[in-house]
Amino acid sequence: MKIFLAGNWVDKPKKIEVRNPFDNSVIDTVPKGDGADVDRALGFAERGAKVMARLSGYERWKILRKAADLMAARNEELGRLISTEEGKIIAEGRSEANRAVETLMGSAEEAKRIHGETVPLDGDPGGTKKLGFTLRVPCGVVAAISPFNFPLNLVCHKVGPALAAGNSVIIKPATDTPLSALRLTEILLEAGLPTEGIQCLTGSGGEIGDTVVSDRRVRKITFTGSREIGDRICRMAGIKKVTMELGSNCPLIVMPDADLDKVAVAVAATGYANAGQVCISTQRVLTAGKVYSDFLSALVPKVQALTTGNQLDEKTKVGPMVRESDAVRVEEWIREAASEGARVVAGGNRRGAIHEPTVVADVKPEMRISCEELFGPAVAVTPFNTIDEAIALANQSVYGLGAGIFTENLEWAMKFAREVESGNLHINWGPQWRADLMPYGGLKESGFGKEGPRYAVEEMTELKMVVFHLNT
Ligand code: NAP
Repeated sequence: MKIFLAGNWVDKPKKIEVRNPFDNSVIDTVPKGDGADVDRALGFAERGAKVMARLSGYERWKILRKAADLMAARNEELGRLISTEEGKIIAEGRSEANRAVETLMGSAEEAKRIHGETVPLDGDPGGTKKLGFTLRVPCGVVAAISPFNFPLNLVCHKVGPALAAGNSVIIKPATDTPLSALRLTEILLEAGLPTEGIQCLTGSGGEIGDTVVSDRRVRKITFTGSREIGDRICRMAGIKKVTMELGSNCPLIVMPDADLDKVAVAVAATGYANAGQVCISTQRVLTAGKVYSDFLSALVPKVQALTTGNQLDEKTKVGPMVRESDAVRVEEWIREAASEGARVVAGGNRRGAIHEPTVVADVKPEMRISCEELFGPAVAVTPFNTIDEAIALANQSVYGLGAGIFTENLEWAMKFAREVESGNLHINWGPQWRADLMPYGGLKESGFGKEGPRYAVEEMTELKMVVFHLNT
């Protein structure tokens, strides 16, 4: 595919190969953008911001609504594209394509709701005869930098609200999975988006990222990706608005009164979807000592039933990881835990980029498989004795994105919700659950700012205060 740069589809002699993670076959190529492309894109985007700011809310609604309809009509094609470039199973590819429709529809609705409010200035001793109100205005140029693991929906979570708010956007998709973002760009243009409103630039983040994020013409960065790159971007960005959606090692607490079959179903669903490459994957299963061995007995057969293979085969439950090197890393971390006293009770083996769904028991909190983000198809099970101990273990992390608890006890559930340091908290399900309209984002080093169209629109706008100094 070509990139969409300065109003045109552009090819370049230097290419990046996009590969199917299952068999490493080349499915397409994209141009390798460089610093000069970034500079051109930024100049164009600055002019584009003026074009976008002139569109009415109704016009922005109409474009996003039409784009959502076009995407809905192409669900199967988009689902296959997502699965082929990313490696997630086809059912998950279709589901992501459906969710992306909802994200764009939600963004369209928000385009009609952007408003300020009257501020009661006469509540201030010096505020008599003043009339004040706020205006919400677009930021200008938005740089949207996205990760590989949801190559369509996470791009929609950035582009939808940015356009709804009247900004121009430069998308920098992940190098492993750029095709869905380019297809989205085509769809938005077909839906009537002015060519000035969007650009999609492919190229290595390590080479062009600093130029994008440090440029003063960018007024807002919305980034989803790893903590390491997020940290670098924050340092490089200078004075501009930034949203950070970073990683985690999400905990799930299993209390002694939990229905262990339900917990096992939830862990099998939330620990291994997309081969564990979900920022809110269940990673650390903190289990009450009283039910520890019963829980492992319930979980192991469910995990062993997750068949691996070609992600496009309807029977496959867990596909390849995005790169073989990631599967090797997961294998190494599991071996390391085993050498330090943990027990591999299900899975544990790797074939190329496919790592078997794995359960590691007796994991100590300081083992890498527990204290760092694994981002792979394995869960680490650790025993605890009291709820205070479970909460302390859950919070023993630099991250705080998602957490879950299984219990029938309201007091325990509420204590968990109040005390666990996490942006998303689930009672009687694993951490991996998201409705695209809800406010979504992490605490601590999982980032700051929220996604979900209504909340992201706030992040994509600035607030102005207007004061009338009246005589009467
Ligand atoms: P990544 O390596 O951090 O890459 C994310 C994006 O940043 C890619 O587009 C990458 O481009 C770009 N990038 C790399 N270096 C850059 C630089 N110096 N400046 C600007 N951009 C740069 O993350 P990933 O491996 O794709 O995704 C996995 C991570 O994302 C995990 O940590 C996961 O938890 C997190 N994640 C978080 C959420 C959330 O909502 N909180 C959702 C999904 C994923 P290249 O691909 O060209 O390197």
